[in-house]
Amino acid sequence: MIEIERNVYLKEHNSFGLDVFAANYVCIRNQHDLNELLESDVFGDSKKLVLGEGSNVLFINDYFEGLVIHIATKGIRIAENGHDRVIVEVAAGENWSAFVDQMVSQGYGGVENLSLIPGSVGAAPVQNIGAYGVELKDSFVSLKVFDLETGKIDSLGPQDCEFGYRTSVFKTTPLKERYIILSVKFRLSKRPKLKLDYGAVRQQLEISGISNPGIGDVSAAIKQIRQSKLPDPKVLGNAGSFFKNPVVHSLVYAQLKKEHPNLVANPDENGMYKIAAGWLIEQTGCKGKRVDHVGMHENQALVLVNYGGASGSELFHHAMKVQYAVKEKFGLQLDLEVNIIS
Ligand SMILES: Cc1cc2nc3c(=O)[nH]c(=O)nc-3n(C[C@H](O)[C@H](O)[C@H](O)COP(=O)(O)OP(=O)(O)OC[C@H]3O[C@@H](n4cnc5c(N)ncnc54)[C@H](O)[C@@H]3O)c2cc1C
Repeated sequence: MIEIERNVYLKEHNSFGLDVFAANYVCIRNQHDLNELLESDVFGDSKKLVLGEGSNVLFINDYFEGLVIHIATKGIRIAENGHDRVIVEVAAGENWSAFVDQMVSQGYGGVENLSLIPGSVGAAPVQNIGAYGVELKDSFVSLKVFDLETGKIDSLGPQDCEFGYRTSVFKTTPLKERYIILSVKFRLSKRPKLKLDYGAVRQQLEISGISNPGIGDVSAAIKQIRQSKLPDPKVLGNAGSFFKNPVVHSLVYAQLKKEHPNLVANPDENGMYKIAAGWLIEQTGCKGKRVDHVGMHENQALVLVNYGGASGSELFHHAMKVQYAVKEKFGLQLDLEVNIIS
């Protein structure tokens, strides 16, 4: 039986730690709950927000007038094919980081570079989470969605999901209002090829004296790097990188490099250049500069933080000022990585 709660406090449900309330809130533990929700009075007219662990959302207002649908389905199913391949189907409400830890401890490689990314498994495909040279799409097989318009379940493959750099069909198209991701299927390997392209990972392994790493070593190294670099949302409210790195044509890159010889950028697989948004923000003087309750983090210029007591609109306005400062200085548009909830 589902319970629709009224005026629910969401501070524990958003990693910015904002004092936000939702008019209606329901926790979904299985598919039957969703069928029941479709039949409920509150469902029809309400504006809806599907929420995992709230680590990639910014509520602009203190009160969300609609219905928050919190996904808390559980379960991990593993099928080995006897050789190298392992297919794993994970329920949307499982915690991503705990899932990665379980795979690493069982010796299944493919997601170890995505260790310690906060949030739920169901939200991971929404922005095709990525870190240290690996993205969710690299081990993705398919996912199951619940269609809020028809009540039907569908299976979608990689082509349907249109994964890109921190994006997918679930982030940018009207489907984001329509589909709830119920579970995600991954292809992992018992003999994985490690991805050690990032200098920081190699360096961390070296510091730990590991010359022939396994997936457990890579996962541990990445955890160490993340813990030393990123603010813990439990201590300092944040949602990770607030902006995406701008991706520009090689000619734009060449011009920028001429004007700013210290520019930090990397070529991507399509021959474009990913400009380090953190570096751009740093050049505007916004890094580490606190304005009342908010600011861009002192060690990570890309991370917008709530120093305590900030409102959603205060955070948003600060982010817009930073975006404007970068545009003024470099002529580059910083797109938002975080989902704005208004
Ligand atoms: C400290 C920190 C570090 C981070 N580092 C990284 C990083 O390295 N790489 C990276 O890619 N991200 C990173 N993030 C962002 C975040 O961890 C991911 O975006 C994560 O996938 C969000 O999961 P969530 O459950 O909290 O999603 P939420 O914040 O709850 O939701 C995010 C979006 O997904 C939608 N959604 C959630 N669940 C579902 C579902 N079941 N079906 C359909 N839509 C759904 C929501 O409506 C919302 O639009 C970081 C965040 C923090 C706080």
